[in-house]
Amino acid sequence: MDASELEKLTLGQDMDARSATEIVGWAWETFKDDLVFSCSFSAGDMVLLDMLARIDAKPKIIFVDSCRLIPETYEFIDVVMDRYRIKPVFYFPDTKKLAAYLSENAPNAFRHDRELRLACCEIRRHEPLRRANAGHKAWMAGLRRSQCETRRAVTKVSMDPVHEGIAKICPIADWSWEQVFTYAKEHSVPVQPLYERGYMSIGCAPCTRASSSGDERAGRWWWESSSEREDGVHFIF
Ligand code: SF4
Repeated sequence: MDASELEKLTLGQDMDARSATEIVGWAWETFKDDLVFSCSFSAGDMVLLDMLARIDAKPKIIFVDSCRLIPETYEFIDVVMDRYRIKPVFYFPDTKKLAAYLSENAPNAFRHDRELRLACCEIRRHEPLRRANAGHKAWMAGLRRSQCETRRAVTKVSMDPVHEGIAKICPIADWSWEQVFTYAKEHSVPVQPLYERGYMSIGCAPCTRASSSGDERAGRWWWESSSEREDGVHFIF
């Protein structure tokens, strides 16, 4: 997939003006088996999972397990697999790279060194995602502009600026936090119980905490400034 192919597929259409359900339907109809849904089981991803289920769309659902996730996430995945009858494909960090990183650095060394933090995210999250997306034309994620400063320019359909040769689909790019939870409530979509305990974004255990700030991702890598709070999966630094 390249930019000109994507341009042909979206020719004459204002993709950003289309609703989330329209984008989900378009992505499935357009890419079928070439579509990957990277599901982190966040509330936004649960909305997308529900929309896909309602049109009986069956893209490859992948889950990147960094091996440092909060235990409640695994409990919640059990609930979701049962409810939606899905079998996500799990991707794990490369053991050799991880062993080398851990042998060289302390397990939580990333708390004191941003380069080590990005290196940990690269090994545990970014590289497994690249492997999962390889050979596909498009991947879908629940990114929203309102989540934080670094996501303000997210569009619904674009070529991925980080992963070469693949389109990135973000159907709920223009949704607010309230819209996500209203949809979940109205459609009886399960959401991670940690949201009720003040978490606004849920990632790895040592890098996530509850937060009451307006920035939804303030509880992720909270020791870094808001403009640095990404992991390289979605943006290049
Ligand atoms: Fe490592 Fe933290 Fe990134 Fe998870 S979020 S991959 S533990 S630095």
